Amino acid sequence: MTNSRVLISGAGVAGPALAYWLVRRGFDVTVVERAHELRPAGYKVDVRGAATEVLRRMGLLEAAQAADTGMRRITYVKKNGRPLAALPADLLMGRRGDDLEIMRWDLSRLMYDATSADVEYVFGDAIASMRESSDGVEVTFERGATTKFDYVAGADGLHSATRKLSMGDVPLRHLGAYISIFTVPNTLGIEREEIMYFRPERLAFAYAMDPSAPARVGLTFASPERDFDRRDVAAQKAMLHEAFAGLGWKIDEFLAAMDRTDDFYFDSMSQVELPSWSKGRVVLLGDAAHCPAPASGQGSSLALVGAYVLGQHLGEPAGPSSSSSGCGGYAEYERRMRPYVEKNMAFGRKMAKDMVPGGRLSIAFRSYGMRTLKYHPRKEQVIEKFLAPMLDAANAIRL
Ligand SMILES: Cc1cc2nc3c(=O)[nH]c(=O)nc-3n(C[C@H](O)[C@H](O)[C@H](O)COP(=O)(O)OP(=O)(O)OC[C@H]3O[C@@H](n4cnc5c(N)ncnc54)[C@H](O)[C@@H]3O)c2cc1C
Repeated sequence: MTNSRVLISGAGVAGPALAYWLVRRGFDVTVVERAHELRPAGYKVDVRGAATEVLRRMGLLEAAQAADTGMRRITYVKKNGRPLAALPADLLMGRRGDDLEIMRWDLSRLMYDATSADVEYVFGDAIASMRESSDGVEVTFERGATTKFDYVAGADGLHSATRKLSMGDVPLRHLGAYISIFTVPNTLGIEREEIMYFRPERLAFAYAMDPSAPARVGLTFASPERDFDRRDVAAQKAMLHEAFAGLGWKIDEFLAAMDRTDDFYFDSMSQVELPSWSKGRVVLLGDAAHCPAPASGQGSSLALVGAYVLGQHLGEPAGPSSSSSGCGGYAEYERRMRPYVEKNMAFGRKMAKDMVPGGRLSIAFRSYGMRTLKYHPRKEQVIEKFLAPMLDAANAIRL
């Protein structure tokens, strides 16, 4: 494989993780990232099951564990901010073995630091067009350069431009909600604690590692699919004002802080479903190929595992069953990943239904559940039953 050139689009989680494995197989790897630096946004994300084994094989498990959020408690609050119920995080999180929870930013930074010495990172640019020939893909970048690569991997997230350029417009499966994450001053004074607040068709949550560090806030609201410009941050913030203003707790304070911050993430709760993850020499991974939606809590794990599997197969000679235009390794990557991805997608759809409450009755039911859970004589079994599909999905692949 030595000297084969690979272009990866996107320096989130999947892109740098794929770069890590390809460099070890002798590929010459370039990563192009549209943002001008690694994006320091996002909430905490889970790394579970097979994905923790990938971190171990990357030699990064200990570093990831050192950055674990160490969450202690989840507190549900009422409109006036008073606690409704507080539960130990260990009870609700269903961790097994080396499962961990890490800020998305820390995970992305870990992947970048493990690869930056061996990989060429180009920030502030993106693929403008691609032209495939029998011996490679000629890529023209938005800043004007044209370079030929042997393979192109799209790790550019839910709205992947690589996907659009190689496969055309693919409709997303909207799961009925929008989610936003941003940073606020930690006026809650919380430390390794998450606060959750439910309103009809709304969910607000906040987390901080330490009282002297800023907190991250998440606002999620139920909505049919809306037509909006993804680059128009002011319009997205206006949607959140419309959905949340005056809803109690610290919501108005959060909205005011949101207006002042640049660290802002907003997206639809959507899945990507594709009949194939590759076309010719172009392949997709992570959210670009199979976003399971944030509600699944499995996007980062799928990204890490997909990068590992693709990193083992990319560039393999095409076998007799592979399409003549495609690359043989892509078929093997997909064969191994599909069943695992499908389980996690199904789990994501289920969780998206449950994440945002319906009306007042649904909130009353939840509140009762939260208040009484800790007195339930078989609370561990109740939680175990709830978490079983997630644990099953997280481990549904042999590496
Ligand atoms: C800023 C941000 C915050 C997030 N916060 C959360 C969260 O709080 N909770 C959660 O569950 N999930 C979150 N996600 C999604 C989560 O990171 C992914 O589900 C998961 O980690 C899979 O990673 P990925 O590398 O496939 O995609 P992503 O992590 O989305 O990374 C994709 C990368 O591609 C870059 N990119 C996009 N378009 C182009 C382009 N045309 N050319 C080059 N680069 C491009 C993006 O800037 C990004 O760096 C967030 C994603 C982003 C980008």
